[in-house]
Amino acid sequence: MRLTTRADLNLGLICNVKCRFCYDLDHLNHAKGPSIEELRRSMGILKNNGIDTIDLTGGEATVRSDLIAIIRMVKEEFGINNICLITNGFKLADSSYLKAVVDAGVNEFLFSIHGASAQVHEGLTQVPGSFERIMRALHEASQARVRLRVNTTATSRNYRILGDIAAMISPFKIENYNIIMYIPVLDAAHRVDELAVPYSVAAPFLKDTIDRYAQCFDRLYVKYIPFCFMQGYEKHVMNFLQTTYLPYEWDFCQRALLRRGRLVCALATVAGLLSCMDMRMLFGRDPKELQRDGFISFQDSINKHKPFKCRSCKYSLICPGVWRGYKQFSKMDDLVPVQGAKILSPYHFYE
Ligand code: SF4
Repeated sequence: MRLTTRADLNLGLICNVKCRFCYDLDHLNHAKGPSIEELRRSMGILKNNGIDTIDLTGGEATVRSDLIAIIRMVKEEFGINNICLITNGFKLADSSYLKAVVDAGVNEFLFSIHGASAQVHEGLTQVPGSFERIMRALHEASQARVRLRVNTTATSRNYRILGDIAAMISPFKIENYNIIMYIPVLDAAHRVDELAVPYSVAAPFLKDTIDRYAQCFDRLYVKYIPFCFMQGYEKHVMNFLQTTYLPYEWDFCQRALLRRGRLVCALATVAGLLSCMDMRMLFGRDPKELQRDGFISFQDSINKHKPFKCRSCKYSLICPGVWRGYKQFSKMDDLVPVQGAKILSPYHFYE
């Protein structure tokens, strides 16, 4: 299976909206992002490691006044021809700005749309006008020669209308639509009461959205939900172990390499392989796949919780369980192990 060669280049925790579920909400706009020289150093490492696709992220990358120069640096100095801008669309509603971004080298946009109405979307972004602007930006981008993708964060405020969002964006030729379950970590962990929805409650709406709209997108995924909630829909489920095998997702090892260095990553990879993976998963696999799987398994072992009962589940070797914070909004009795032969490959459902 082909490993992703995409990585993120983070331009800093600066933003012009205030999404309630943002992991960094309480720390936004406290500091400038990395300098262009620091970004150049990061790009050198990523390029040396074989990365050929960059997602510009933040915060919100368009807040930076030097974004055009950064895009040119990524494209012209490092020869990166696939550049994606992850965005809330606020500034891109200005068609001349969007054109400048595309002319500089961006050929893919990933828009963050969280409602099918201003009331729901802006209830989450907390900025009036943000819905009208992102929809205008999406329309403008659809007129340009770029690839389009959309992310929706599913929370207690919008899980019932996920189908309405999918219907609203379906005419725009979206290649990849991701529904991302609310993640109770960092600053977002303080907002469980207002945002969390148990997976068992959201699952019928997720399945209905897939049933009705999956054919409208090249790829539709629900991110970060255990497989037991999505039986029959597994090919639409993505947890961290699966991300490595999808072209639209990041090689998370690269981010850790930039932040922690090679030694820490190597130790984490070995620890993941030794402690988290079943020996049966290793046979016949490409060493590079195992390296990625080991690192991600280690990360999952820190961030996720899998109760003892999961050992009997057929998905247990490719499923990380739930975020540690999930216990705050579910009694965990909604995790129901599924009987059957163990699934050994993280990309079993994508083959
Ligand atoms: S391993 Fe546990 S959390 Fe994962 S699918 Fe099975 S029962 Fe659900």
